[in-house]
This record gives sequence, C-alpha cells and structure tokens, in this order.
Amino acid sequence: MRVYNFSAGPAVLPVEVLEKAQRELVCFEDVGMSVMEMSHRSKAYMKIIEEAEAKLRSLMHIPDNYHVLFLQGGASLQFAMAPLNLLVGSKKADFIDTGVWSSKAIKEAKKFGSVNVIASSKADTYSHIPSYSKESFDPEADYFYICQNNTIYGTKFTTLPDTGNVPLVADLSSCIMSEEIDVSKYGIIFAGAQKNLGPAGVTVVIIRNDLVGKASERVPTMLNYQTHVENGSMFNTPPTYAIYMLKLVFEWVESQGGVAALEKKNKEKADLIYDFLDQSKCFKGTAAKEDRSLMNVPFVTGDEALDATFVKAATATGLVNLKGHRSVGGMRASIYNAMPIEGVRALVNFMKDFEAQYGGVGQ
Ligand code: PMP
Repeated sequence: MRVYNFSAGPAVLPVEVLEKAQRELVCFEDVGMSVMEMSHRSKAYMKIIEEAEAKLRSLMHIPDNYHVLFLQGGASLQFAMAPLNLLVGSKKADFIDTGVWSSKAIKEAKKFGSVNVIASSKADTYSHIPSYSKESFDPEADYFYICQNNTIYGTKFTTLPDTGNVPLVADLSSCIMSEEIDVSKYGIIFAGAQKNLGPAGVTVVIIRNDLVGKASERVPTMLNYQTHVENGSMFNTPPTYAIYMLKLVFEWVESQGGVAALEKKNKEKADLIYDFLDQSKCFKGTAAKEDRSLMNVPFVTGDEALDATFVKAATATGLVNLKGHRSVGGMRASIYNAMPIEGVRALVNFMKDFEAQYGGVGQ
C-alpha cells in the first residue's frame, strides 16, 4: 500500500510517473532496452534529453538567452560552482542568510572571495525572511545570492530583492515549478531534482548566457559552466535515468495544466494546513505568516514528547516522514507538487483527531 509521504526530499513522485517508468523500465518504446542501458549519445536518448529540456523551457517560460543544464553533484555543488564561475570581477558577493542551505553557500563562497551577509534571521532560528535595505547592496558585487524557499524552516521570499545589474543567483531546490516565476529576473537558478522535479542524482541549472565563460583557466573543467554549456550537459556521462524521470515529471506537469495550475493547487493545499494551524489549540506553525512556504510546513505542539507521539501515531496511519529537520525538531509536512490534496486532507483530519484526543496539552 502506498503511504502519503511528506518527506522533504527525496520526496513523493506522481504515481502516474512511477507507473509509466515501470511500464518502460525493461523495454523503452521500440529500442529494446531500458533507458538505463542506453548510450547517452544514442538517438533514442538524445531525444529524451532534448525533450526534457524543451519541456522545462516551455513550462518555466525560460527565455532564449538562458542555458539549461542537467548536472550532478546536487544543489550543494552549486554552492561552489556559482562562486568559482562568477567571482571574477570585484570578487565580492552579497548574501541573505535564511538558514542552513544559504549558510552552506556562504561558507563555500568565502573560499573564493569576499562575502557580505546583507541580512540574517539566524538569531530567530530562521523563522522568517530577514528585512533588508537596498542601500546595503553592493552595486559592484559579482552576484547576489538567496535561497528562495527554505526547506527546513518553511519560509520563502515572496518578493525578490531588486539587485539592479548584479546577477541574482537563487537556490530553488525546494520550490522550483511550484509557482510561476519570471526567469528573466535571475542570473542563475539551480535546484536539486529530488523534491519537485524527479529523483535524486540530477541538478537543474538555468544560467543566463553572459554568465557563462567567465571562470578562470584554473577552474577544473567539470566545475566550469562553459564546459557543460558547450557540450549540452554531455561533457561526460550525464545521469541518464534521472533525466528521463524528469522528462516524465514534466509531461505530468503539462497534464496537470502547467505551473500556473499547480500553483493554484499548491496554494489550496498549503491553505488547508495553515488555516487549521492558525486556529488549532494543539499545533502551531513556526514560520512567520508573511513568509510562509507553499512547499514545507513546519509545526510544533510545544511539547517534544507530544511531537514524538504525533509523529509515531501519524506514521501508523500511513502519514509518513513528518518528523521535523534534526536542527529544529517538531514536525514538518513537505507538500510538493506531487502530493495530492487528498494527502493534505488526510493529514489535517488526522491532526484534528489528535487534537481532540490530546487537546491543548502542548500549549
Ligand atoms: N538547497 C536546499 C534549499 C535544500 O533543501 C537542499 C537539500 N535538502 C539542498 C540545497 C542540498 O541539496 P543536495 O542534497 O542536492 O546537494
């Protein structure tokens, strides 16, 4: 029996996608072999990767002056690749620190240049997006960095910082394709696939033309964006099967009506939980209302033992992976694109029953 999987990633995939992959697992179309067994340079595979890119471009309305790359190394490698490739002018970069993932990006960038942290919400356990003033932005910075959706704390940037001519580099690992965005506002977008796009093993990078080819000669070939742009993500063997799964997920997104339609559903799903949390006597959301994520919803009872009881009881009814990140505790429901609204309803109903049983014990 399939459960409702609220994991932050790797995360739930659309069951239709899994079933299609299953049908094609042993023998893909008329090729007579699995996608896993194909040469990445074969005609059949080239068609798969080209379709994956074309669908991504169309779903996210990616302008022609952007390249799309399918890389390895996870979103974490982008924490290093962005500075390695972009810190070539003033060697300065501005960052907003909104949690563990932006901190890791800051740590990597410091190896290659001078990092200016414009604002941080660390003192408040990253429960909100810190306020910042444009005056503190460095107009000479080589780039400006944000983590747009903060998977652990359930916060997101509802508006992008206006960085003028300084390219905005953004980690969209946990929100890519969850709502419409204007790609032209970014210099680089990157996202590990394992939350909203597909299985782990591939990282999507969307990079504006003029940011490619800036890296010094000393940058290792595999870490230079230019290498991958020039070779259509095939300088070496790409994660072929993961890219094939992406293609299937993109087809599924199309079948759902595209990103705008998913955004509407995602808002409905998130509202169901937040509306319940806002009036609950047992549970409380931990992210500031104005910065709430559509994808990751952390909450607590206020009593660690009761949190543990909740997670255990939820798991027993098929609502799994609700334990919060080890750094913050409590609970977290990740409700990515592929989480059906029925799963969210089941969770909210379970929370209501739990509250009826345990009342306001936690507060
Ligand atoms: N950025 C964000 C926002 C994440 O949530 C994660 C993973 N949970 C990462 C980066 C790291 O991704 P990866 O494991 O693909 O390196």
